[in-house]
Amino acid sequence: MFFTEQHELIRKHARDFAEKEFTKEVLDEIENTAEFPKEIFKKMADAGFFGIKMPKELGGGGSDHRAYVIVMEEISRASGIASIYVSSPNSLMGSPFLMVGTKEQKEKYLRPMISGEKIFCFGLTEPGAGSDAGGMTTTAVEDGDDYILNGRKTFITAAPLADYAVIFAKTDMSKGTRGITSFIVDMTLPGVSCGKPEDKMGMIGCATSDIILENVRVPKSEILGKLNRGFSTAMKTLDVGRIGVASQAIGIAQAAIDESTQYAKERKQFGRPIANFQAISFMLADMETKLNAAKLLTYHAAYLKDTNQDASKAASMAKYYASEVCNEICAKAVQIHGGYGYIKEYKVEKLYRDARVLTIYEGTSQVQQMVIAAQMLK
Ligand SMILES: Cc1cc2nc3c(=O)[nH]c(=O)nc-3n(C[C@H](O)[C@H](O)[C@H](O)COP(=O)(O)OP(=O)(O)OC[C@H]3O[C@@H](n4cnc5c(N)ncnc54)[C@H](O)[C@@H]3O)c2cc1C
Repeated sequence: MFFTEQHELIRKHARDFAEKEFTKEVLDEIENTAEFPKEIFKKMADAGFFGIKMPKELGGGGSDHRAYVIVMEEISRASGIASIYVSSPNSLMGSPFLMVGTKEQKEKYLRPMISGEKIFCFGLTEPGAGSDAGGMTTTAVEDGDDYILNGRKTFITAAPLADYAVIFAKTDMSKGTRGITSFIVDMTLPGVSCGKPEDKMGMIGCATSDIILENVRVPKSEILGKLNRGFSTAMKTLDVGRIGVASQAIGIAQAAIDESTQYAKERKQFGRPIANFQAISFMLADMETKLNAAKLLTYHAAYLKDTNQDASKAASMAKYYASEVCNEICAKAVQIHGGYGYIKEYKVEKLYRDARVLTIYEGTSQVQQMVIAAQMLK
């Protein structure tokens, strides 16, 4: 309904890639070392996944949000962590440059981001400012041709791997969210350091840490967008980001259903496959129905974006529903696997852990409910 023949070709390309590259051995290695293989990262870049919907003139694929959703869905189905590397340049990192970057900034930063030569991270959250990101206390004070940044960002995906960070900081303390500016910060600048990588429950293989900024001198030319307009850039970026998280959720949930269906047909108790018990088959029916509803919400949000319609509420509904349902589906997948579902050897154990963050990052479920309700009640 939402897809063209071209979209289906992209799906096949992504699915073939994911099935070939993310073998059990590779996934186990990522889980055990907490490192993502450089050669697969390079192959993902070469396959065009980092620039799916980025302009062709900057080295991207020039495709649309639906193509992005499809690739995210297929990659997440095989590896949640790999989808984070795909999402970053297409979404949280690429979008602000695309939306408000100057021609020079797009050329300098977007091109190496899309080719995978440089890694970027998105620094919005702080220890005391998560859902209330506008309550940040990181400051940027004007000093000649520069701004001096001080503060601490927390839970920043890929910070220890990143060459550059987009950092949101207060440039006018009196103006609340209208006094926030976004800066492109070279991670090698004096005064920039990372905290220790967090020991996470899931999505292992892309380090997450704090970024500490101590008197970091950033030239004015590295302001991304207009002075004091950074918060609006962050919120618009998260609109796209939420479609990406919804896509991760439907991919992970699909994998949980694939595993559970297969297992239910093979596992025998009381002399017959457990799939023959209505308690199990109805659980599968519920999982399938909810996944399909989540897919439709996600595809619809991407379709609205592609047709230049307001997608903010739709993206929040997709993120909210798909991430909640993904957690429910993964929990049921573990239940269908019985004791084996609790053992790392079985894929559903990891899916259950990977799914957990989806209702938290890029706006918790409660924040999505606030966004949806605010649009209904305005
Ligand atoms: C693995 C991981 C990766 C991340 N990557 C990044 C990143 O790359 N960049 C970045 O900037 N951030 C990142 N984050 C941060 C993430 O976006 C925040 O954790 C999230 O926004 C929630 O903020 P918080 O953790 O401070 O929770 P809090 O805001 O303290 O929320 C705690 C609880 O209170 C609820 N709550 C808060 N306010 C309200 C309210 N008004 N009404 C009802 N309920 C409310 C929340 O829903 C939640 O249940 C990441 C987080 C994780 C775990």
